[in-house]
Amino acid sequence: MTHLVVVGASLAGLRAVEAVRRDGFDGDVTLVGAEEHLPYDRPPLSKEYLSADEISDPRYREEETFAGDLDVELVLGTPASALDTGARTVTVGDRTLSYDGLVIATGAHARTLPGTEHLEGVHTVRTLDDAIALRAALRAEHAQRLTVVGAGFIGSEVAAVGRKLGLEVTILEALETPLARAVGERMGRALTHLHRRHGTDVRTGVAVEEVLSTDGHVRAVRLGDGTEVDTDVLVVGIGARPATEWLEGSGLTVDDGVVADETLAAAPGVYVAGDVARWPNALFTDVVDGTMRLEHWTSAADQGGRAARHAVDPTAAKAYETVPYFWSDWYDGRVQFVGIAAGDHIEVVAGDDAEGGPFTAIYRAGDRIVGALAVDMPAEVMKYRRLIGGRKTWEDALELAEQRRQQRE
Ligand code: FAD
Repeated sequence: MTHLVVVGASLAGLRAVEAVRRDGFDGDVTLVGAEEHLPYDRPPLSKEYLSADEISDPRYREEETFAGDLDVELVLGTPASALDTGARTVTVGDRTLSYDGLVIATGAHARTLPGTEHLEGVHTVRTLDDAIALRAALRAEHAQRLTVVGAGFIGSEVAAVGRKLGLEVTILEALETPLARAVGERMGRALTHLHRRHGTDVRTGVAVEEVLSTDGHVRAVRLGDGTEVDTDVLVVGIGARPATEWLEGSGLTVDDGVVADETLAAAPGVYVAGDVARWPNALFTDVVDGTMRLEHWTSAADQGGRAARHAVDPTAAKAYETVPYFWSDWYDGRVQFVGIAAGDHIEVVAGDDAEGGPFTAIYRAGDRIVGALAVDMPAEVMKYRRLIGGRKTWEDALELAEQRRQQRE
């Protein structure tokens, strides 16, 4: 192995190049990124970066450390446009990079509402440039009303920031229960209470019919029932689409992400990591059929390192399994989830979910614990994460819940 190429210069891509250098890999390493920016941290972009008066630099590393410590060639500002797995080449602008091992870490693009791309006042939040624009819009003198389409985690965080900045905030959600797919119906209702407790107007089961504008600036959103919701700023938080467009014709299997095997291999010498990766997570293949794709910081970081190690030495590739973990900051509190929200029973084991927390709930599938959700109880979920990773039983989880209850008293 002499040349590792990593496409996607964000969290998974950065962790990929760091991991192999830490292991002593001494071949050439090239990191290719579509954005002009050095790799930077995305979670703050929908949180502190919007709300804080003083912003901190979200970049993970200084530019000099790439050529220096890491000895990595950075190719930024141009997306890879093609992959030839037979010839083992990646096309980037007018360059053709030959690789021995390749990591695909191209993440995802924000989805938006068709037809709103050129309207002023309409925002998505995926990139640093998006966050710079949204920060200015939320803080503009005329901005009083913020409307968020989609009650997912990023939309919810932006709504919380809007309230913090003193805006009137409305969330428009197509589902009857926000986040039902991510955390289940009952917990989705609990999280909706959390918004309402902070004065956010959450409207569920509504369809966005049209975005209305005056002189190219958003003015209102018209709903399916004809209601108009006036707004100064509109944030579209309707999820992300894996960045796989450049892989057309590559022969890789693309199906809502690049599909890989349990070792993260998508083709000989080609491994996937982060938000773009879809793979069978052995820890849950008895609970959910098939493959999963995560959009969580911790998994992207972890998979990046693993995929790169496999790419430089495929003979050492092992099945990659993980307990998913994500956090989300809403208002002054924190929502955390570990595992998966599948299963046949959810039990609140601490606190009360009726008013949106604080509480901890655990998820059962068969006789296993498979998930845990905590709202404003930061010490709890990691304890359950260990049980989930160890394939422990529901009884074990209830025992832990009882121990934790006694410790809190
Ligand atoms: P990305 O970070 O999406 O990076 C992919 C990179 O690849 C991008 O820079 C992109 O420009 C580049 N790229 C795309 N196509 C090409 C191409 N053809 N050629 C070259 N480069 C290309 N997770 C949590 O667990 N908790 C949180 O609180 C949280 N908050 C978040 C807030 C926001 C606003 C966002 C956007 C995400 C948040 N996440 C959070 C998710 C987390 O940030 C992602 O899971 C993580 O960034 C994924 O890393 P990645 O490297 O796989 O992909």
